[in-house]
Amino acid sequence: MFDSLSERLGGIFDRLRGRGALTEIDVRAAMREVRVALLEADVALPVVKDFIEAATQRAIGAEVIKSVTPGQQVVKIVNDCLVELLSGGEDVPPLKINVTPPAVIMMVGLQGSGKTTSTAKLASWLGTRERKKVLMASLDVARPAAQEQLRVLGEQTEIATLPIIPGQTPVQIAERARQSARLQGFDVVLLDTAGRLGVDEALMAEMAAIAGATNPDEILLVVDSLTGQDAVNVAAAFKARVALTGVILTRMDGDARGGAALSMRSVTGTPIRFAGTGEKLDALEAFDANRVAGRILGMGDIVGLVEKAAANFEAEQAEKMAEKLAKGQFDMDDLRQQLGQMKKMGGLSGLAAMMPGMGAAKKAMDSGAINPKLLDRMEAIILSMTAKERAKPEILTAKRKIRIANGSGTTVQDVNKVLKMHQEMANAMKRLKKMGGIKGMMKMLS
Ligand code: GDP
Repeated sequence: MFDSLSERLGGIFDRLRGRGALTEIDVRAAMREVRVALLEADVALPVVKDFIEAATQRAIGAEVIKSVTPGQQVVKIVNDCLVELLSGGEDVPPLKINVTPPAVIMMVGLQGSGKTTSTAKLASWLGTRERKKVLMASLDVARPAAQEQLRVLGEQTEIATLPIIPGQTPVQIAERARQSARLQGFDVVLLDTAGRLGVDEALMAEMAAIAGATNPDEILLVVDSLTGQDAVNVAAAFKARVALTGVILTRMDGDARGGAALSMRSVTGTPIRFAGTGEKLDALEAFDANRVAGRILGMGDIVGLVEKAAANFEAEQAEKMAEKLAKGQFDMDDLRQQLGQMKKMGGLSGLAAMMPGMGAAKKAMDSGAINPKLLDRMEAIILSMTAKERAKPEILTAKRKIRIANGSGTTVQDVNKVLKMHQEMANAMKRLKKMGGIKGMMKMLS
């Protein structure tokens, strides 16, 4: 799936050449192409705009890690942005199925979207993976075959279905399903609602009435990923009338364009929970944003490569820092970088710990004078300084300190702590310089 989009992006990135930081001109040129590719993949325009903006901001000035090309670096950034777009930057919360039984899950969507199939797939998934006792009920009284279809699927999956009583309204069936489930000890009731070929008022009113009567724990929208932009419009229409809690994207096994998947999270504001990947009743997968982003780009190997190179990049940064130290320079930006390293290491180790200034910092941390949470605050303090203040912290007057404390949501005392730490480290650097720089220190240590 998603072949065309990944091929297109591949072509774009091949054109990026050069080394060092990604320039604005390069990034903008590449992003123009990404924009066209996404629009051609039928991603909704507002989604494309936000996506391009976020990816551009992240890419401009990003340093190209040694051993990867700028194109590969951009792939990684676009990949990260895709994952965020697909996931909303959040983990999918578990389905609310552990409430006082029975939990009610209402399935909504257009006719032909794969709603009934998905109902059976989900019921089976809940039964086998979650060990829940599940009852399915079809509320589709408009299509006589619909209730029978669910009954047959129930037989195939060995999931109980509510006996069919002709002449009942959808709300009556829903209430009967709930009642039976309670009496018979079912954990979950799945309500398969009626669909229509298109969004219409009667359908929406029926959905709202069923939701009002049964107060479902989950309302899952089933959409056909092959319908692209239409799927997005359908989602917006349903969202306007019922409180959706998630999306199931069907026919992900055949999605050539990717547009629906990319738009769905931001249009519905709810997580994509599952992907239907075939006609068989076990072809339902927990939606995995990383995997789908990888498939859209078709460049999973590049993403892995850049991740590995990023680890080396950290080592490079440490080397650069060592050079700076050797020259006896150490400003607030350097301190901030060190703080970032300390946070990542959850303390101090390796080269950083060998640096005299860091030894002092480590002592402070070990003694509890600086706790790891403080590192975040220290970073915020440094970020609240102007470039000039960061380069020459000695210009910090009381007035400036108050401004920085306010800007970072800290106190002047905290600001002073950061300044003291910087001073101690800078002094240590000077001593280090006298000893003949980092090389001299290494020699002494060996
Ligand atoms: P409903 O009208 O929304 O209830 O749609 P159905 O559940 O009856 O599904 C319509 C058709 O789509 C059936 O032939 C299903 O087998 C097929 N279908 C449903 N989900 C998927 C899927 O994820 N992949 C594929 N390839 N086919 C699917």
